[in-house]
Amino acid sequence: MKSNIYAYNERPYLSSKKHKGVVVCPQCKLVFIDGKWKKTAIPDSYAEQLCPACRRINDSYFGGILILKSELLKTKKDEILNLIKNKEASSQIANPLRRIGKIEQKGEDELIIYTTFEHLATSIGKAVKRAYKGELTIQYKEDEKAARVYWKK
Ligand SMILES: [Zn+2]
Repeated sequence: MKSNIYAYNERPYLSSKKHKGVVVCPQCKLVFIDGKWKKTAIPDSYAEQLCPACRRINDSYFGGILILKSELLKTKKDEILNLIKNKEASSQIANPLRRIGKIEQKGEDELIIYTTFEHLATSIGKAVKRAYKGELTIQYKEDEKAARVYWKK
């Protein structure tokens, strides 16, 4: 396990100071190392700090909101949810901070998906459109990195 940690560490001077500077998120156990949050083995010594994704989820401060509205949700909800979960999983390989915070159902034909960052909401929206056609609208807020994505069919 230990050799793994050092393999991730590209700055050799840190190895003599043990794991100084390594931070672990107490909630999701991601490790902040070499300037990035990564899914990797937890070192022996570290400081604890919430990662940006957990902070956003805890504060309900989401970077992306995706609203799906369609009659299809009455019959294909499980299939659509699967597609959403798969997109989340593949997005996390690129960046483990990209996460779905919560999913709300409104009535029988509307789902609202809250994502930690804007990128995941837009990429799920595009995947849903690829699979089911329909109409996709993406709105970015200019002053902050946040997106509101609407899909309807
Ligand atoms: Zn976390």
